[in-house]
Amino acid sequence: MKVEFSNKAKLPTRFGNFIIQGVREETQNGVFEHLVIFSNELLETPLVRVHSECLTGDVFGSLKCDCGGELALAMEQIAQSKQGGMLIYLRQEGRGIGLFNKVNAYALQDQGYDTIEANRALGLADDARNYDVVGEIFKHFGIKKIQLLTNNPHKIKWIEKYVDLERSSIIIESNCHNAHYLQVKKDKMGHLLEE
Ligand SMILES: [Zn+2]
Repeated sequence: MKVEFSNKAKLPTRFGNFIIQGVREETQNGVFEHLVIFSNELLETPLVRVHSECLTGDVFGSLKCDCGGELALAMEQIAQSKQGGMLIYLRQEGRGIGLFNKVNAYALQDQGYDTIEANRALGLADDARNYDVVGEIFKHFGIKKIQLLTNNPHKIKWIEKYVDLERSSIIIESNCHNAHYLQVKKDKMGHLLEE
């Protein structure tokens, strides 16, 4: 794996002012371009959100999942964080299965499959994501300890390999479309949605 960082630039957003930097990751599976969006000042133990790309939720306001709401809430909390913070936006669509497969999985969900069953019916992994680049990003920024915004215990396991972390939960209200999805995440993927 080879990781390269672009120059930094200012990124004013509706949540506040950030700095943006591109991260290019070269692996055996191809080249991936991720983003890091962070506060002007990063103090000790910054608030960090590692968000995996979800085009339908992040951009198109899909209510099939909670990604768009989580992303907006994370940016808001990072912008307001006194210790500063960072959003690591990983371009690994559909928990790593890609956009095309994700839409095929959605088609199966329309027939009554849940998110896990649909991926299995397509012969895809439940969660094909890899977080190695996250370790390189922390190293690059000299970050040794973070407060991680997540409800996902698997993500905690992966990310604590690279950095000391405390968990900070992120709560999204369910709606009529994503209530079932959130329940599956809780029951089958061990997500911590109660706190
Ligand atoms: Zn999503």
